[in-house]
Amino acid sequence: MASNKRLLVLPGDGIGPEVMGEVRRVIDWFDRRRAVGFDIIEGLVGGVSYEAHGTPVTDEVVEQAMQSDAVLFGAVGGPRWDNLNFSVKPERGLLRLRKDMGLFANLRPAVVFDGLIDASSLKPELVRGLDILILRELTGGIYFGEPRGVEELGDGERRGVNTEVYTTSEVERVGRVAFELAEKRKGFVHSVEKANVMESGQMWREDMQALRDREFPGIPIHHMYADNAAMQLLRWPKQFDVLVTSNLFGDILSDVAAMLTGSLGMLPSASLGAPDVSGRRLALYEPVHGSAPDIAGQGKANPIAMVLSFAMALRYSFDLPEDAVLIETGVAKVLASGLRTDDIMQKGMTRVSTTAMGDALVEELDKLAA
Ligand code: NAD
Repeated sequence: MASNKRLLVLPGDGIGPEVMGEVRRVIDWFDRRRAVGFDIIEGLVGGVSYEAHGTPVTDEVVEQAMQSDAVLFGAVGGPRWDNLNFSVKPERGLLRLRKDMGLFANLRPAVVFDGLIDASSLKPELVRGLDILILRELTGGIYFGEPRGVEELGDGERRGVNTEVYTTSEVERVGRVAFELAEKRKGFVHSVEKANVMESGQMWREDMQALRDREFPGIPIHHMYADNAAMQLLRWPKQFDVLVTSNLFGDILSDVAAMLTGSLGMLPSASLGAPDVSGRRLALYEPVHGSAPDIAGQGKANPIAMVLSFAMALRYSFDLPEDAVLIETGVAKVLASGLRTDDIMQKGMTRVSTTAMGDALVEELDKLAA
């Protein structure tokens, strides 16, 4: 039963520890029922780390993250730390982990569960069965490019500059992730840029096409302008499988896709680094939502986004796709049974607490594995 699956658990602030508590129960379940064991280390990040150590993440925790097969991250931040100096704000803990771990590929699935079809902003027939993946380049592009800044031109006139910059190797490494993901999914990729008005977009398109022709000839690639991709996501989202794009366009399009699925409390994510010689990638899994200080400590948080983030870890870091499906099926069944946390409450359904949602999920896992 012993295993060397190294998992670093960082619950963080606000509802982070509450939703992580339910994931720990799911992990215990896997330990007990599936003989899938994890070596777990738990650490501090965000405001709680600042309180204990004067920094939102310590060098020791960063080192533990580098040594782990996967990091499970809850959420950070809250009004208590809003006025701290920028360099020690809770969010800096997450940014440092992303940077030091070299997490350049951000995966955000947009999956619509039948039970929540009415929570989507689109008509049921457009989203029923939706399962797409937005892959955002996370460490390059206009958020990091130089030159940047605001220049005083005199007479009250200023000039603000940010620069979109990508190299071929940056495009290729995220492109490779897109094609590899597509191989395990429906098998096609949409690459999104603005090749019509940006030279960097033209290069992105050419490099993606060349990569596909050279390394993934069996995977169809479709090139799409980012404005059209936004429209197509709302018009007929099921035309996509894996949509790969730059940092800026991915930031926007992943939020558009999120709204197709309903609530923040349902959305998981993964951020992956480059593979080492053994093929192992550093990886961090976290819900899309924040620390939700407005409901923290009240037992109202929806743990599903955090639980689905763990399912992504099973799929992408531990190569246990069947166990990931088990969790996803468990979530679908719990929703079908009518249980709802506050954020996804609908007429005629049963309102439950964070822990009651966890109870129901563990019960479903028991039934599915029986
Ligand atoms: P938020 O995601 O924390 O909350 C937005 C709204 O969604 C709130 O009304 C909240 O109650 C609700 N919500 C979020 N997750 C939920 C869940 N699991 N179940 C039920 N309801 C849920 O965003 P915010 O309010 O803009 O930010 C709050 C704090 O979180 C801030 O300090 C912000 O900086 C931080 N934040 C952290 C992360 C992160 O750790 N990755 C991400 C976003 C925001």
